[in-house]
Amino acid sequence: MNSYQFNCSKCGSCCKNLHLNELYKELDRGDGVCKYFDEKTNRCKIYSTRPDICNVMNMYEIHFNKYYSLKEYIELNEKSCEKLKIINQKK
Ligand code: SF4
Repeated sequence: MNSYQFNCSKCGSCCKNLHLNELYKELDRGDGVCKYFDEKTNRCKIYSTRPDICNVMNMYEIHFNKYYSLKEYIELNEKSCEKLKIINQKK
């Protein structure tokens, strides 16, 4: 078992800023918020079947393990997460 994993704080910032990344265009309900995001609970309505692009570890296994160590990849995701939280707080 590896010791690196992405620890989601469940803030919802990534699911509420999809307009910042073309990859998420199909999920954007039109205002940057995902059509599957439940604003009452701050959770994904389809979490167990969410697309791979929403699953940090799946994306590592499918694409990014060719380019980054798991540690590097997790750190990059954590940096992006922090930026999204700042963007979200300014709304
Ligand atoms: S599918 Fe779920 S995890 Fe992915 S952006 Fe939408 S609400 Fe977030």
